[in-house]
Amino acid sequence: MDSYKHFTLRFWLIFLFSVSTFLIVLSCGAGIYLVVKQVMTDDILDINRAYSEKMAQTTDLMFQSMKKNLETSAGEIAPLLKDRQRLQQHLKLWQESTLFFNSILVANNKGKILATEPRMEVDGRFLMSSGAREALEKKKTVVSQPYKAITGRLIVLVSTPLWDENGNYAGFLGGTFYLEQDNTLHEFLGKHFYEDGSYLYVVDQNGTLIYHPEEERIGQMVDGNSVVQKLMDQKSGAERVVNTQGVPMLTGYAYVPSANWGIVSQTPEEEALAPTLKVVLDMFGYISPFFILLLLISFSLTQKMVNPLRQLANYAKSVRTAGTEVQPFPTIPTWYYEAEQINHAFQQYAETLRHKMNVIKRESLTDPLTGLANRRYIENTLRQWTETKKQFSVLLLDVDGFKKVNDEFGHQTGDEVLRFLSQAMKQHVRKGDICGRYGGEEFIVLLPETSAETAYLMAESLRMFMSDTVSPTGEPVTISLGVGTIAPQIDTKTLLALTDEAMYKAKQEGRNRTKLMRTIV
Ligand code: GH3
Ligand code: MG
Ligand code: MG
Repeated sequence: MDSYKHFTLRFWLIFLFSVSTFLIVLSCGAGIYLVVKQVMTDDILDINRAYSEKMAQTTDLMFQSMKKNLETSAGEIAPLLKDRQRLQQHLKLWQESTLFFNSILVANNKGKILATEPRMEVDGRFLMSSGAREALEKKKTVVSQPYKAITGRLIVLVSTPLWDENGNYAGFLGGTFYLEQDNTLHEFLGKHFYEDGSYLYVVDQNGTLIYHPEEERIGQMVDGNSVVQKLMDQKSGAERVVNTQGVPMLTGYAYVPSANWGIVSQTPEEEALAPTLKVVLDMFGYISPFFILLLLISFSLTQKMVNPLRQLANYAKSVRTAGTEVQPFPTIPTWYYEAEQINHAFQQYAETLRHKMNVIKRESLTDPLTGLANRRYIENTLRQWTETKKQFSVLLLDVDGFKKVNDEFGHQTGDEVLRFLSQAMKQHVRKGDICGRYGGEEFIVLLPETSAETAYLMAESLRMFMSDTVSPTGEPVTISLGVGTIAPQIDTKTLLALTDEAMYKAKQEGRNRTKLMRTIV
């Protein structure tokens, strides 16, 4: 038999409840986790989008005011181009008043440096850089792409043209940011580190990092990044991207029109979503008492459901092993339909079975012709009495000349005589005495707690009744009896042999008489 068949209904129900509760909790957890994750992702994308837009706007404003500032100064500087000293003084004053640039320079229309502030020993040299060439070519206010200056620094040049009194192009006035050093941009962007790992970076229109919290990365090309590509297409928005270093990021990005730059605000997804798990764990914390309560309720309900069935099962088991001793059906409280029906059916079945068992038992111990105890019953009783060392006497009796009764009156009448004798026996014994049919027309009476004398008197009384009373043959039928009494020195078998011997003696001495067994010492 498979071992699982041994598990009880209670086990399976509790198993079912536990597993389903566990799965419900788990799927709730998973669902909540996914929802919270989505909500948080959306939130952080929104925050980063809003933030990058805000920074882009501010940067844009900053560039506009930078350009304005430069253009205003250009008007003041243009007349001073020939007077180096005043030019230098003016630049110095102006540089001190404006906080935008790391340095300021003035170049003529050939790109020759006329003055720098702070002063660098580069006056008179020609600017060859891409930024300077762009300024010379375009002859209008421009923000250059980052480039390596003569000084070897990575810089961005914001420049505006200078016009002489005749309206001819005379060179340009430029302000620079040193991208790898502190500058206004750093001041402005660098304060935006957050505990969750969020940070900002800025790229130019070619995808070069102009600003990044890790300074060594400034100047790197990151145009492989999909967000940077969008910025290069002058788009703004927010999305989840895997950055060039393979880290998933929740990113907001915005385009800065005045500089052709893009600002990216982003949060590493892992850190951004770290609180999600905590939310789910907190939820488990809050609901676990309810789930435990639910489990306890299911356990006790299971117990209540299973109880009637369990009692029925136990009863069924007892019936299977009981043999003829079927126990009375117990009162099993049922409170639901199925158990009630089974209970009812069982009750009827058990009653019927008990009744039948009792009948069988009685029949197995009863002589069918006379209704007296049969030989098996007598032997069982004698065995019990021997075991409990009960004191008792016994009568053995045999119908005299019974063959003749059968021969003369027929077997049927013979049977009636036997029944008649049985009735007489029952009438002549006390309550608790046992009358039995021991063989064909041989009978026995067991007399508990009875002395030989009393037994003898009872035997005589029966014998005389029979000899004085008309039997179904139309005339009395006599009996011969042997009387025996148990004694410590003899066993039941010897007792019966001795009593039989006494009865035989009664026959020998002429029948219709009672003989006591001989005493043995
Ligand atoms: P005795 O006085 O010596 O006892 O003579 P008896 O004729 O009674 O001899 P015995 O006891 O040997 O006779 C037994 C007879 O009882 C034999 C048998 O045919 C008859 N008998 C045994 N059982 C039954 C029975 O159930 N019904 C009938 N009608 N006769 C039976
Ligand atoms: Mg006989
Ligand atoms: Mg006989």
